[in-house]
Amino acid sequence: MMDNCLFCKIVKGEIPSKKVKETEDTFAFEDISSQAPTHILLIPKIHLGTILELSTQNSDWVGKACLLANEIAKERNISDTGFRLVVNCNSDGGQTVFHLHIHMLGGRPMNWPPG
Ligand code: AMP
Ligand code: ZN
Repeated sequence: MMDNCLFCKIVKGEIPSKKVKETEDTFAFEDISSQAPTHILLIPKIHLGTILELSTQNSDWVGKACLLANEIAKERNISDTGFRLVVNCNSDGGQTVFHLHIHMLGGRPMNWPPG
């Protein structure tokens, strides 16, 4: 946990969030600036600044987070219509919060290329 990290504070409940689901190692909550009918962030409970900080010790988190996203997709009825999972990394990737997160976007058609 990092003292001055927004998403660590959300995991600890020090900053309010709209929780969607929680597991032993993942916290899923609504994005505050929703870009689609479903826009959820899936974050590891441990602090990792970017996806570059994944290591062989903790990279299994990605698979677990994707399983959780699949569960959420079924609950929200967007598994058949589809959804998008996105990880932004550093400045060219458009990352603004430096605690690793997977965006889950769905409920409307997405564009490609993403811009
Ligand atoms: P990124 O640009 O990939 O780093 O995405 C950061 C995301 O975090 C943005 O979509 C923000 O809207 C979202 N965000 C920032 N602060 C909060 C917050 N307090 N609660 C929920 N989502 C947030
Ligand atoms: Zn953090």
